Amino acid sequence: MPRNRQDAGAASEWRREAARAGEWREERGAADGAQTRVTVAPGTFYVETFGCQMNVHDSEKVAGVLLGRGYQQVERPETARLVFYNTCSIREKAAQKVFSRLGGHREALNSGQIIGVLGCVAQQEGEEIFERAPWVSLVCGSASYRKLPELLAELERGGRRVTGLDTDTDETFETEMTRRDNPFRAYLTIIEGCDKACAYCVVPFTRGPERSRTSASILEEVRRLADAGYTEVQLLGQTVNSYRDPSSRRMSFAELLVAVSEVRGIRRVRFTTSHPRDFGRDIVEAIEAVPALCEHVHLPVQSGSTRVLRAMQRTYTREEYLEKIAMLRGARRAISVTSDVIVGFPGETEAEFEETLSLLDEAQYDGMFSFTYSPRPNTPALSMGDQIPEAEKGRRLAVLMEKQRGIQTARNERLVGKTLEVLVDGASRRKGQWAGRTSGNRVVNFTSERERLLGEYMQVRITRGGPNSLVGELVS
Ligand code: SAM
Ligand code: SF4
Repeated sequence: MPRNRQDAGAASEWRREAARAGEWREERGAADGAQTRVTVAPGTFYVETFGCQMNVHDSEKVAGVLLGRGYQQVERPETARLVFYNTCSIREKAAQKVFSRLGGHREALNSGQIIGVLGCVAQQEGEEIFERAPWVSLVCGSASYRKLPELLAELERGGRRVTGLDTDTDETFETEMTRRDNPFRAYLTIIEGCDKACAYCVVPFTRGPERSRTSASILEEVRRLADAGYTEVQLLGQTVNSYRDPSSRRMSFAELLVAVSEVRGIRRVRFTTSHPRDFGRDIVEAIEAVPALCEHVHLPVQSGSTRVLRAMQRTYTREEYLEKIAMLRGARRAISVTSDVIVGFPGETEAEFEETLSLLDEAQYDGMFSFTYSPRPNTPALSMGDQIPEAEKGRRLAVLMEKQRGIQTARNERLVGKTLEVLVDGASRRKGQWAGRTSGNRVVNFTSERERLLGEYMQVRITRGGPNSLVGELVS
């Protein structure tokens, strides 16, 4: 809620902006389809993002860099002077999608369009991309984004093939300006890269080593976000809780969470993704003590079998993981716990898969992302024997998802009758239909004839619980 008249002015301006952004997101659509005759609009750019929240936020920063150089953002790629794809290579399918998008830009060199590939596929494939799609002019991995202004200047001078592919950096990507797409939740990266070495994962290769921002620079950005009208922030990192303040203040991650929550105007603080190895009691104690810290922890387990976890190089056993879950479930606040699971890792037996199913019974997750194992270049798991057939991986995934669906439905049904605070962040085309999120990150749909609820915190009484969302009614 705005605290004074000046804040109220900023907030209403921000809500108008929010409504505009909402329309913009709906119209944006997918950018596929072949390109025909192109007349390029000078000084314009288009960015499309694939993959995780960190990629989404990197794109917001890339857009900030481009806006700072006088470019204008457009909603479709056809006539943009610069077309950037910020890519994901975590699974094979995601990487293939990018090449199918690039296939639609064969005429780029004739039309004067500049096509750039950013992110994980850029880092992984490097200059090979120029071979596969010779009309591409820029290939830049996320660890090199700080060089983006230089690379852009080179392109503007007529450079034909420019690359940023270093990962040996201790710098983070900080920009003067970030063009944020989500008007309700501001994302900010606090740690980049990853020093873990999970046997299936490309991230340590594509995003480089872990490097944290100073607590002072994070807090300064949060203050700016609060001044701009944001009330909810989400701190990002591949392993966000491995944060190490590089400044002499040496703030721990839990201390940083508390400091961010204390910034005037901030009502909700989220963070993702936590690695179980670095997840300590101090984080739970901070959530217990500070209402603004959201009651949600995403703590991916990946497998319920200690043997598979060891093969995955996850650095914890099933029992150690379940101790962390017990700590979370024993907290004084009802903390939602969500997870990621991979099925069909090389050598995973039926009995080991069943250990994952039984872990679901014990952990009682409030939400879960689940994947079939996808073999990725450069990773140790690629050369492991006993790869599981695709059909079997698919079967295991379906069984897992069905089980989790039942757990989620039961957990959501238990909330019927409770009144929860919801930050309203969605309006349906159908008048009077609204959606928002609870502190525990559950989606709540409700009906209200009131207008202009976007961005408001409302009390909603839950009337129904489904597998993926809740239904409620506004408490007037
Ligand atoms: N850093 C986070 C962590 O450690 O949990 C998540 C990083 S990754 C972007 C998100 C999820 O993708 C992982 O938690 C894992 O479940 C999944 N993933 C990563 N590599 C994969 C692979 N090769 N095949 C299938 N799923 C994968
Ligand atoms: Fe990948 Fe593991 Fe790092 Fe997560 S912790 S990004 S799964 S290597």
